[in-house]
Amino acid sequence: MTEEKAQFGTVLNRLRAGIVVHERTSRIRYANERAAGLLGWPPDQLLGVQNDDPRWAFCREDGSPMPVDEYPATRALFGGEIVEDLIVGLRRQSDGQLIWLICNAEPVLDDQGEVVEAVVSFTDITRLKSVERALYESEERLRLVIEGSNDASWDVDLVTGVQYFSSRWWSMLGRDPASTPASLDSWRDYLHPEDRARAIDEYERALEDGSSSFEIEFRLLHAYGHYVPILSRGLILRSGNGQPLRVAGTNMDLTERKLLEQQAYQFAFFDGLTGLPNRQLLVEQIQKAIRGISRSRRYAALLLVNLDSFKIYNETLGHDAADALLKMVAERLRANVRDADSVGRLGGDEFIVLLEHLPVSVRDAAVEAEQIGEIILDSLGQPYVLAGNSHVLTASVGVTLIDGSDPSAASVLRQADLAMYEAKSMGGSTLRFFDLNMQTTVDQRLDLERELRKAVQAEQLRLFYQPQVSVEGRVLGAEVLLRWQHPERGMIMPDVFIPVAESSALILQLGGWALRTACTQLKHWANHPVFSRLSLSVNVSVRQFNAVDFVSTVLAVVNETGADPRKLKLEVTESLVARDIEGMISKMAMLKEVGIGFSLDDFGTGYSSLFYLQRMPLNELKIDRVFVQEILTNPHHRDISRIIILLADTLGLSVIAEGVESEGQRQFLQESGCDAYQGYLFSPPTPVELFESETLRRNRMH
Ligand code: C2E
Ligand code: CA
Ligand code: CA
Repeated sequence: MTEEKAQFGTVLNRLRAGIVVHERTSRIRYANERAAGLLGWPPDQLLGVQNDDPRWAFCREDGSPMPVDEYPATRALFGGEIVEDLIVGLRRQSDGQLIWLICNAEPVLDDQGEVVEAVVSFTDITRLKSVERALYESEERLRLVIEGSNDASWDVDLVTGVQYFSSRWWSMLGRDPASTPASLDSWRDYLHPEDRARAIDEYERALEDGSSSFEIEFRLLHAYGHYVPILSRGLILRSGNGQPLRVAGTNMDLTERKLLEQQAYQFAFFDGLTGLPNRQLLVEQIQKAIRGISRSRRYAALLLVNLDSFKIYNETLGHDAADALLKMVAERLRANVRDADSVGRLGGDEFIVLLEHLPVSVRDAAVEAEQIGEIILDSLGQPYVLAGNSHVLTASVGVTLIDGSDPSAASVLRQADLAMYEAKSMGGSTLRFFDLNMQTTVDQRLDLERELRKAVQAEQLRLFYQPQVSVEGRVLGAEVLLRWQHPERGMIMPDVFIPVAESSALILQLGGWALRTACTQLKHWANHPVFSRLSLSVNVSVRQFNAVDFVSTVLAVVNETGADPRKLKLEVTESLVARDIEGMISKMAMLKEVGIGFSLDDFGTGYSSLFYLQRMPLNELKIDRVFVQEILTNPHHRDISRIIILLADTLGLSVIAEGVESEGQRQFLQESGCDAYQGYLFSPPTPVELFESETLRRNRMH
């Protein structure tokens, strides 16, 4: 028996748990070695110690002091209670350390059911407790981070079905978690109908295919009725065999990012003024339309809409009003096409309308495109009311059908552009279709340009002289006019090659050559009794005049040739005015200073306001030949001619009429007060030799 007891004692001492037996009086009757070790008392001193000995200092799990009646031994001894897994802290006397114990206590009853003693066992969980503490702290930190961040955390235990949605998760959706029951399917219920199938599919696929994480974008219903764009990032925790156990992650509100993306997109692909797609987006849309045709076999059409003489509006109304006008144009365009069609702004006063899904037959497609084009022309032609004033604006429309055979958006645009120019050249306010003839014209034009580049060096240019004659029939001078002596094609007229030259920098070369040749001729005549009195008028293109070195170039030519600048007249057109009026005036003034004269060519066909006209340092107005031509038959033209003559008189300018073909015309002009004439009535433009002999003949008569 004693041996058995001793053996039992050894076993108890080997236990990793402390065991203490309290007798009825609560004094310790037995303690194993582990108990003494944990409590920090020598085993022999532990015996006989009362349960309420003041040298114990137990505390509760939350760190507050534990009253004696909460001690496990007290509860077992005096309450007959079985205490299970109670966590108790103890400030150990021996080393002052706080240790944590997990305690069990059980009363031992006698035959009558009276408590005779209590067995208390306990193990050290200090290490566990510190791990738990750290865990708690880091969890707490995490919680703060999560609550502080804008992301909403969520956590689903797939095994138990327990789930957690942070308060941010709810507030992101404008919802109150207290009043909204959280169900496992909360997010599924709130999913945007368009996203639902895809998002759930992506989520379930991630769970099934062994992924450890996923990122899914979807929209969830906000309490206010709109949808919140969300990026959901999740981590999947799996068991050893890959079974998903738990999914946890965060939802990020993408509203702001989407907004930024949207703004960036808006900025890159839309016109800031009108909000319409810009060139870049349009090119994409055209390319998409081209690809679409191979499937649908239906035609598409591109309409290029260019406002007529918008520059003038810009100049006279100011930029704000011009911008407002452009916006109104954009609105009218939008209003006149179907939703499926695209309207965009290429820039400036140029817009595009892309019509898709037109009929399968070319003819029907063309008819429909034309109808829409006419509707657009009509709508744009209605008056625009700005600040109480009504303005009228017209447009030129170039149309090209897209049949999908030409895969490049650029060439489709070019075709529409050509058609638009064709419409412009017909006087604007009209619509033109692109066709192959037009393409041929373009190709020829490119050939012409290539050859024209070589014309100056190859000495193929000629200068013809057309006399300008006084009332008495005396030659006052000549307008010099370019001719191109082409080796194969013969004489080419300026109406053919000047526009080509004007569309590139070539005009600078040509104009420079004409000026130099005319000046050389003036110098050549300088000592001649008849010719020295003649003046020469040289045409100057807008592009030439606007070149930064225009003034210095002209002065250099005059100096180098030794021509008398007072015999040189430059013919400029009203289109100069549309640009920079101050710059124009100062350029003209500088040249005028050395004696060079200015004649306003084609006067009456443009838009010069009287205000500009009176500020321009001119010498002469030139009545355009369209007025002269019908001066006897068209009362309007007759009136305009008269007004121009009157105007010149008022402004102190001389006046000359061009294109005078009949004596009747000359007579009328003379009676109206015009005293200089140019036209076939006297002579067509001729080579200089012929001009000289003709001049000698005419002037000798006087
Ligand atoms: P423009 O400056 O209006 O020149 C007058 C045009 O009227 C000339 O045509 C002339 O031949 C034509 N003309 C003269 N008298 C009559 C007439 O009685 N009846 C009719 N119907 N026409 C008459 P051209 O020589 O063919 O020149 C055409 C245009 O080419 C010129 O128009 C001018 O704008 C441009 N041009 C000619 N030479 C030059 C040049 O050296 N530089 C620049 N920039 N342009 C030039
Ligand atoms: Ca002229
Ligand atoms: Ca003219």
